[in-house]
Amino acid sequence: MALTGIQILKMLPKKNCGECGIPTCLAFAMKVAAGQTEIGECPYVSDEVKEQIGEASAPPIRTVKFGSAEHPFTTGGETCLFRHEKRFENPTGLAVLVTTDMSDADVDGRLARFNALRYERVGVMLKADLVAVKDTKGNAAAYTALVQKVLGGAADAGIILMSDNADNLAAAAKACGDRKPLVYGATLGNADAFAKVAKDAGCPVAVKGGNVDDAVAISEKLMAAGLKDLIIDTGARTVRAALEDNVIARRAAVKTRYKPLGFPTIAFPCEMAGDALMEAMIASVLIAKYAGIVVLSDLQGDVLFPLLLERLNIFTDPQRPMVVQQDIYPINGPGENSPVLITCNFSLTYFIVSGEIEGSKVPSWLLIKDTEGLSVLTAWAAGKFGADMIAQFMKKAEIESKVKHRELIIPGYLASMKGELEEELAGWTITIGPREAGHLPAFLKEWKPAA
Ligand code: SF4
Repeated sequence: MALTGIQILKMLPKKNCGECGIPTCLAFAMKVAAGQTEIGECPYVSDEVKEQIGEASAPPIRTVKFGSAEHPFTTGGETCLFRHEKRFENPTGLAVLVTTDMSDADVDGRLARFNALRYERVGVMLKADLVAVKDTKGNAAAYTALVQKVLGGAADAGIILMSDNADNLAAAAKACGDRKPLVYGATLGNADAFAKVAKDAGCPVAVKGGNVDDAVAISEKLMAAGLKDLIIDTGARTVRAALEDNVIARRAAVKTRYKPLGFPTIAFPCEMAGDALMEAMIASVLIAKYAGIVVLSDLQGDVLFPLLLERLNIFTDPQRPMVVQQDIYPINGPGENSPVLITCNFSLTYFIVSGEIEGSKVPSWLLIKDTEGLSVLTAWAAGKFGADMIAQFMKKAEIESKVKHRELIIPGYLASMKGELEEELAGWTITIGPREAGHLPAFLKEWKPAA
């Protein structure tokens, strides 16, 4: 059972020294209980207590990491069944499959699409994460050559090594060097050999079960061999079976802390459908319901982009609005006669407004006021975007040192604030901007500082 904050507090030294970055031991204990910080952040806790609390406060789905130091891939760490109960922690990894059966052109095409299909949305880079490299010929030299090609061709990809042959996997894992791969997939028959490969290479290993019971038996065997970082494939190869197995595993881990299933899962839509659209639909179901990794047969923009957006939505913390930092943002190289605009720090607002300004090609200063992630009208109604606060922020940001004129453009929805703002900002003229960001380019092109 997970420990409560009070139970954890009893085991802390209670110095209230703040060296953990949190002012009091009580607040620290609450954060450890909520999984928001690690017990190791307190330098005064003994190893024994660390182990005791670390074990008890670990998430029911283990956090598993692999990849390189520069481009780590993290999966698992989940603590709940439903996103609204808290949040989902680590987005499902999207992998593309390459095999030793494929021609060079097919492999090159997949790697090129892995690198090219990247989309920036609300300040987040959306892209596939992993390349699954499958040994279909059983030929060690051909397999290692393919792994090396992937390592060079997809520099920031996490690598999943897939083979039935432990020796081939060992050679390929060695070729990966510091880019620790995931080794797939251990069965009851080869679990000992795969455990040795994973231990020698210091990487996690994936269970390859025939069904849930089989996966549990393999997982127990690998844990008994001393492995801690596992990924589970229950062997399901239909969408219904995969969905059921993912739900069974998540419920068993979260509700009863059942250890053998307390690991992220891997699913193979690439083996469940004959066409790309059906494969994408299956992947979308499994992203929504608990897959830690989904492996796709190929990457195409029209299929990948919707999956990335779905993933972004599901793995965004519903309790914390996406925000950008309060600051002055120069856009298109502004100078002392450029317009000054202000809006809130809800990231969607920022990216829409800044995108329109950028598109207008008019050099501008965009002031972003911290409204705790609330949109313009909501922030104003909540008292977080009032005239006095805007005036205070503008003084602190020292915008007056950047422009000669004294004219501020406010969102059209805040027109009623004009008089109040002019009182707070002595010497400034307040201009009401358009209500819709889409009208900003035309507005800015016409704009001239007030005489
Ligand atoms: S570092 Fe340890 S003792 Fe100091 S406040 Fe944090 S938890 Fe308490």
